[in-house]
This record gives sequence, structure tokens and C-alpha cells, in this order.
Amino acid sequence: MIPSMPSAICLNIRIEDLHNFRIARLGDQLSHKLALALAAHANKRNSAEATVEDLLNYLPMRYEDRSHPAAIKDLSDGLEASLELVVQRAHGYEVRKGLSRSRLFIFEVRAYDAARSGPEVIVWWFVSGGRAYDIVKYYSEKLVAGTRFITFGRWEWNATKSTYKLQLHRPADELELLPSPDQGETPVDLEQSEENVSDPSLAAIHVGRRVPVYRKLGPFNSKRVREIVHGVFAQLDPQAIDETLPEDLLKRHRLIGRAQALREIHFPPPDTSMADYELARSPAHTRMIFEDFFWVTFALGLKRGRREKETKGATLKIDKPVKNKIAAVLPFKLTEAQVKVTREIFKDMRSTAPMNRLLQGDVGSGKTIVAAIAMLAAMENDLQTALMAPTEILAEQHARNIKRLLARTPYRVELLTGSLRAAEKRKLHVALRAGEIHACIGTHALVQEGVAFARLGLAVIDEQHRFGVMQRAELRARGLNPDVLVMTATPIPRSLAMTVYGDLDVSVIDELPPGRTPIETIVAGEDQRQDVKRLIQREVKSGHQVYVVYPLVEESEKVDLKDATRRYEYLRDVVFPKLRVGLLHGKMKPAEKEEVMRAFVAGEIKILVSTTVIEVGVDVPNASVMIVEHAERFGLSQLHQLRGRVGRGAKKSYCVLLTSDKKTAVAEERLGIMAKTSDGFVIAEKDLEIRGPGELLGTRQSGLPEFRIGNLVRDRELLENAKREAEFYLNKERSPVTAQLIARVKQDTRFELAAVG
Ligand code: ADP
Ligand code: MG
Repeated sequence: MIPSMPSAICLNIRIEDLHNFRIARLGDQLSHKLALALAAHANKRNSAEATVEDLLNYLPMRYEDRSHPAAIKDLSDGLEASLELVVQRAHGYEVRKGLSRSRLFIFEVRAYDAARSGPEVIVWWFVSGGRAYDIVKYYSEKLVAGTRFITFGRWEWNATKSTYKLQLHRPADELELLPSPDQGETPVDLEQSEENVSDPSLAAIHVGRRVPVYRKLGPFNSKRVREIVHGVFAQLDPQAIDETLPEDLLKRHRLIGRAQALREIHFPPPDTSMADYELARSPAHTRMIFEDFFWVTFALGLKRGRREKETKGATLKIDKPVKNKIAAVLPFKLTEAQVKVTREIFKDMRSTAPMNRLLQGDVGSGKTIVAAIAMLAAMENDLQTALMAPTEILAEQHARNIKRLLARTPYRVELLTGSLRAAEKRKLHVALRAGEIHACIGTHALVQEGVAFARLGLAVIDEQHRFGVMQRAELRARGLNPDVLVMTATPIPRSLAMTVYGDLDVSVIDELPPGRTPIETIVAGEDQRQDVKRLIQREVKSGHQVYVVYPLVEESEKVDLKDATRRYEYLRDVVFPKLRVGLLHGKMKPAEKEEVMRAFVAGEIKILVSTTVIEVGVDVPNASVMIVEHAERFGLSQLHQLRGRVGRGAKKSYCVLLTSDKKTAVAEERLGIMAKTSDGFVIAEKDLEIRGPGELLGTRQSGLPEFRIGNLVRDRELLENAKREAEFYLNKERSPVTAQLIARVKQDTRFELAAVG
């Protein structure tokens, strides 16, 4: 017996110490690697903070029922099934030669099942990239004739070969080698690396039962994660997993206990329905999803309750004289929707608690004027105001408009951005501190060191999804607990708004100003470029302007930038040599950007080739054509934003969504939605279904808590129930159960509640 070895595993044991428990051949170096991977996944600061709890929170992405593996004779076209197979022959062949980066191979395995129940099937996948040749060689050596493996996926009948074929997309996740009975030695895994040498004594947990399949965790493949999680459960102290939800809540919703749920979500018991597991509706899933939603809504509700009890530095008076002053500067009649949201905002501003309101309105619905009205109301109360925009282009545009609007009032409006010279910045800082600037419009520069207001009463944040919650808090901290108005043009489906923005009140502008002509949206392929060119020529000839937008995908930013630049040169020199064509992208210097934007606003530049920097807010009413290249790479909400750059005047506008190479069915369906509807909410719902909330809102950057397992679309009903329960307990302020829940949620670093008193 080794004295230092603890007897059973608890949830707070550090992953780095896991090697003490001799789990699945995990030595101290591998424990460290596992800790690193988990720390990254759980947003921990370093590997020492990764715990067994984080490992158990690393949930399977799907399950395979290997208790009765299918046989080849059971296959049918389109069937999803896992098969246990034996290699007959495996080899790779080159399908595209070229320089190393563009080389492409197909790797093909012919295999039969142990009972030889049908013809040999073919399992295949693509191998590409600089190391393709080595990878093919590696697979050929591993998958020698006689090797047993399990594979999973959608089988398709191939008439030419008269057999079933299965294409793998991630062979490392979708194909698992099994120990061969005749070889008897350690099975070799697809990644030869030490992380993935599996433990032969554990072979039984991979076959003849239901197994979880995990996404690769750092260097560890699904099979290894399965072994490790299995090993941890085997030695877990039976008392280790506490119940976190109140007893009576569990009863009301017939939820199973946490310990049972965690175990069963990793290893489905033999008697439950696999269909429920696939749909995330097993008792284990229901419990874990409920819990996930419960904590997020509870935390947000707690934050909101705290805010409602705060008082702001000054309450505002918005009476007849103030309203008259506002009416005097309005350049047009407000829409009914604008009037309605203005009323809601005024109500907040008059209250003693600080406003924290989200203003949603589709692109072009006229949010800016509403913000300006609120700002003017605050200034009339002798308070300063700030308006923060995500880009310099947008901040300049707002400053221009608001200066024009307030030209005949005594108020001083200034623009504060990062590209100002240090001396100018300092001058503005001094004036802000002295209370001489009434409306300060800017970028992130507004929340940088050195910026302080004498009496900031209202902070407006435009295009919220580009900003983090952090910045919201920082801006707030610069005032006397000021009113905060957040504006967004990404319509947020209600389900999402009530959770992620659970601490904000929501106002919606659901009507466009009069006189807009609908935009015609066209989905076009490569073969329609000539038509697109003619459309551009025609529109430019009649005095209008055109945007051509390229996506910038992070991984290959350099390549994409080259694409945009090359395309710009081609349009400028070859296609439209007589027209002025401009280029705009994020890597340009601020002064260059400003000059290009100025020339476009002034109508000198006719065609503006750009990356997505123009996505939000830019308002050039004379532009009538938006061309989006590689449209299939954009999210729907992003396309909707881009489309919103045109159709801002009375004339007819066009949005052309160009798809590169082959249109996939999915891309075609998605782009079809754009052609069918111009309703931002419908589009956002679709986007949420397709890409999930993280992508839609950029929550990853913004620091909003993410759900571990809950899916806002699939689990809407559970969300409603969980939210109702969270409110129930929040309302019982003095109950000891609520006190316990509050103590627990404060400990969870995901919610950043610890610092809040
Ligand atoms: P967004 O909500 O996308 O920020 P903007 O505030 O930029 O929209 O408004 C879009 C355009 O509509 C602007 O040119 C603005 O002047 C105009 N606009 C806003 N409200 C009205 C209205 N009530 N009547 C007429 N035009 C309006
Ligand atoms: Mg706007």
C-alpha cells in the first residue's frame, strides 16, 4: 500500500494529481496534459485549477449502442449505424496533385464483418494538407489486413461498387481500433502518441455495451476520454457528488439526482431508451439541462434584483418644457414604434433605479434618433451623456449626425477615438472631467484610463453584440451609476433574450420608417457573374453606389485578405477601369480608412470592395447594391446586417449573395431563407437553430455564461420551467434554501457574481 495515495476520488481533486489513482495508465505527464486540456475547456486560468468535476462536466457529444452491433446484411441506404469490422485491405491514393498544401488523398478501407454477413463494405475519408502523404502512410501501417475496428456513421448504397460506403469526416473520432484476439497485444490507436495508447485491460468498456463518444479533448481521443472517465467513476467516492438543486424542485419536475444523472449521462444504463439519449431527452439529460438553465437564469435574476435596489446619482425630470425642446430638433415624425420605446425609456430615466435597457430594432428601424432623444433629455437635466460604438467609422457617423441634430442647442458634442493625437485626447479628457462636454461619442477609447466624467447620467452602447459585458460595466462605473441603454440590430429571439439578457429590460422597434422599397435578394452561382457585372454597371450608370464584401475567416485571414485585395485590383483595372473603386479592410490605418469612407459617402468612390468592417451601422443612402462573395461562409444574421446597408432610400435596391464553388444543399437552403424573408427575427431564429447562441451573439468574446448542455432551441420548454423555478426561489428572499442557492451561485466563477456584495 502506498501511504500517500488517497482512498477515493472526490470532485475537487486536481486533474494533475489523477495519476495517484492509477487510472487508465495515466502517468503524471499525461495527467498534466489532461489538466491543460480541461483547463482550456472550462475557462480555468491554469492547469492546476482543473478538477475532476471539470472532467465529469466534459459531456459526450453522442452515444453508440454497441451492445448489438449491426451486421452488413442489416444495412440500408442512408442508415446510421455502428459496425464492428475487420480490415480486408486499406490504402490511400492521390486524387489531386500539386504543391504540398493542395495535395488531396482518399484513404479507403475495404472491410467485412466477423460473420461475413454481406459483401465487403468501403469506409473512406479525405486526407489533405502538407502532411497528407505521411498521414496516409501512417493509416496504411495501422490498418493492416485482419485489424478489427468499430466505426459509425451514415451508410450509403453505391451502385457502381455494388456495396455500402461510409464517408468519415473525423476518422479519429469515428473509427476505433479494437484489440485483435489473435495478436493479443496492446492495440495501436489512430494517434500513435502516448496520450492515446489505450489500456488493454479496459478493452471491455468499448464493446458489447452502450458507449459515450466524446469530442477530442486536447490530444486525447474519444476512446481515451472514455477510459479515463470510466476509471474515475469506478473510484469515485459514492458521496462525492452533492445534490445542488432543492429537494422539492426535484420532486415537482420529477428530476433524478445529480450523482445518478452525471453517471448516466456518460454511461447510459442498459435499460433506458437510446432514442431518448439521441434526442437529449433521457432522464439524465433532462436533469442536467434543467440544472444548466436553472443556474444561469438564477444568476441573472440575482443580478437584476440587485440593480433594481440600487439608486442612481440623479433622478431626471422629463416634463413638458423638456419634451418641447426635443420636439424642436426632430428632423422627421417618429414612427409609432419609436414613440412607444421612447416612452419606455423615459419611464426608466425618471425612476430612482438605474435604467438597464436593451433596445432592439431591425437594421434601418431608426434606433439612433431614439438614442439621441434620450441623450437630449439627460442633457436637459444637466447631466453628461456618452455614446459608444464598436468601430471608428460608426462613431464618426454618429458624431456627425448628432452634431447636426443638436446644432441649434447650447450643447457641446465631441468625438473621442483611439486615433486622436495624444494632445487632443488629453484636452478632451480635461473637458470631460470639467463637465464641459455634454455628449461624448466614441469607441473603446471612452472606457480607457484617464477618462472620467464630472456627471455622467446616461451611457448608450450601440451594437451591443460587439461589446463585452465587461465594457458595459466599465462604462457604467464611470458615472454615478448612470442609466444604460444598449442598442442592437441583431434581433435576438425571445428565448435567448430572456436568458442571456435576463438582467436587461427589452424594448423593441418593430416597424420601419415609411417610404422604404423592399430589397430584392438574389442567390447567384459562379455562372451568373456576367449578370452581376451588368447589374453593377446599370446601377452605377444611374448614379448609385455598390458594396462588394468578402468574408474574413480567422484561420486563413491572410489568404482571404489577399482574395479581397486581388479582387479589388481586378475590378479596378480590368472590369471597371473607368470607375473609381475603393478598398476597405480592418488592417488599414485609421486615417486611410477614414479617407476611403469619406470618399464613398461623398459619392466619389462608386464601388467599395470591403471585408466585413462595414457590417454594422454604416449609413450611405445612395448605395443600392450589396454583393456578398462566398455568402455561404456568413451566418444569416450577418448577411441580414450586410443587406441592411442598402435599401436606405426610396429607390429599389439589390442584394446579391454569390456562392463560390458547388452550392451544398445546406448552404442553398440557408441562403434561400434570405431571399424569402427580410424579417430579422425570423432570420435570427433560423440562425440560432443552425449555429447556436454562441455564434449568433459572439458570447464567447463577450464573456456571457455559456450553457454546458442546454440548447435554447431544442430545450425551450425546460428553459421556461427552469426560469420559473429560479424566480420562485429568488422571490423567497428570506428562506434558507434561497440563501444556500445564492451562496452556491456566487462560488461559480462562470457568473462573475463573487465580487458583487
Ligand atoms: P438603425 O436602427 O439601423 O441604427 P438608423 O438610426 O441609422 O437605423 O436609421 C436609418 C435611417 O432612417 C436614417 O437615415 C434615419 O435618419 C432614418 N430614420 C429614422 N427614423 C425615421 C423616421 N421616423 N422617419 C424617417 N426617417 C427615419
Ligand atoms: Mg445603427
